[in-house]
Amino acid sequence: MLNSSVLVLNRSYLPVHVTSVRRAFILLYQGIARAIDEQYKTFDFESWAQLSVYTRDESVGLVDRAIRIPRVIMLLTYDKVPRGQVRFTRINIFRRDKNRCQYCGDVFPRNELSIDHVIPRSYGGRSTWENVVCACYQCNKKKGGQIPAEAGMKLLSQPRRPRWSPFMRVPIQEIQRKEWLPFLTMVDLSYWHTELLEI
Ligand SMILES: [Zn+2]
Repeated sequence: MLNSSVLVLNRSYLPVHVTSVRRAFILLYQGIARAIDEQYKTFDFESWAQLSVYTRDESVGLVDRAIRIPRVIMLLTYDKVPRGQVRFTRINIFRRDKNRCQYCGDVFPRNELSIDHVIPRSYGGRSTWENVVCACYQCNKKKGGQIPAEAGMKLLSQPRRPRWSPFMRVPIQEIQRKEWLPFLTMVDLSYWHTELLEI
């Protein structure tokens, strides 16, 4: 029971993580997180511990009393996803470009695509939404360290910062889909979802 899953939200109610009941209780107890009930009310550890435990509730015995198991908690300090801002991550770059190489126009599986700096870094090109696109390995190789015109290549469209949409978040359900399984090590997850620095 203590190892079963609890959904972790940030302060904007966005799912950011799945943790264990054990860890959720530690976060609650330390005041780092609040429990959320089915009415979206939030509770600190003390007020949660005082909730009545009915037989239908899942609970654990702590010291001299039973405490309900929270199934959703909210981190009080973690707020890395500003509302209305698309996170600048590999997965979101691929989503924006719909897994389409922006040079040859073909659609590829994600593992056959790379991220290309349109103006190469060696020319002072920056890592921003406006200067990165999906490119297949063949086009990336052909382009090499050149700007598109030098390589005789043309972009399908001018890359832009995408408008925010809920699909640009990190939906936990999506992470648990079976087509994600080949990617589902924590290393891959953080690879895909780590916020890239815009510099
Ligand atoms: Zn291509």
